Amino acid sequence: MIYKPTTIREAVALRAEHPDTSVYLAGGTDDLRLGSCAEGKDLIDINGLCSDAIEEKDGKLVIGALCTLQTLKECEKVPAFLREAAGFCSSFIKRNSATVGGNVALRRQDSYLAAALAAANATVLATTPEGDKEVPICKYLHCTCTCLIRAIVIDPSVTGWVKRFGRTSASHATLIAAVSGDTYALSVSGSGFACGNSPDLASGMTFVDDIAGSAEYKKYLAETVFTLRR
Ligand SMILES: Cc1cc2nc3c(=O)[nH]c(=O)nc-3n(C[C@H](O)[C@H](O)[C@H](O)COP(=O)(O)OP(=O)(O)OC[C@H]3O[C@@H](n4cnc5c(N)ncnc54)[C@H](O)[C@@H]3O)c2cc1C
Repeated sequence: MIYKPTTIREAVALRAEHPDTSVYLAGGTDDLRLGSCAEGKDLIDINGLCSDAIEEKDGKLVIGALCTLQTLKECEKVPAFLREAAGFCSSFIKRNSATVGGNVALRRQDSYLAAALAAANATVLATTPEGDKEVPICKYLHCTCTCLIRAIVIDPSVTGWVKRFGRTSASHATLIAAVSGDTYALSVSGSGFACGNSPDLASGMTFVDDIAGSAEYKKYLAETVFTLRR
């Protein structure tokens, strides 16, 4: 079943009523693929409810949850390393549908955007059944809440770099690292996501063998990536 709520509040209430049997539908690149965790679940269509624009407000850049990865990649107001991270999604067709909100909400270990947004100290504007909230993205990525992301907020002047390792540009990433100022962020396949003010994030992680690479390879990358710089 596809619900078509007409307000954000209605969408959030529907999701809270059916916590285990529903998902939000944004770009649909994950929800509508075979074998996704949305299979067999009801879809709550949020298209038209959140913004798909990138706007400047009070000195910040507010990226609407429905902004696509392609729009993010093309927008000159967006810091260069975030635009580069959007380009980690190597398929134009997918970039043109996949949304920033959907990407963050999936909390994937090989997330295109998580490391770069975390290094940029982005915050998540979200709506819950209890009301609106703004949380640091690192906190959001480590929780399991099913709130509706309305927008991602960043400082437009932030600078940094992001680096991706993977077998090919279309394979699942082995590791994605990003740095901005003294904030370091790391996504590692099989190990999850870490963020902090020290480059030594690897010491708190456990590495595993999987299709993206061996545990030893990932550990080596995680221990050295922040010394490589660009
Ligand atoms: C072949 C293939 C490979 C992929 N590889 C990668 C990869 O390497 N890295 C990666 O990061 N992603 C990957 N993806 C996943 C996906 O394409 C992207 O993460 C995309 O950005 C998801 O956005 P969407 O708008 O299509 O989400 P949808 O498919 O519409 O939704 C996905 C999930 O996000 C939730 N959601 C969507 N919008 C919101 C919102 N505003 N607030 C709260 N929850 C929301 C939904 O509940 C749903 O469960 C891949 C997908 C496919 C099909």
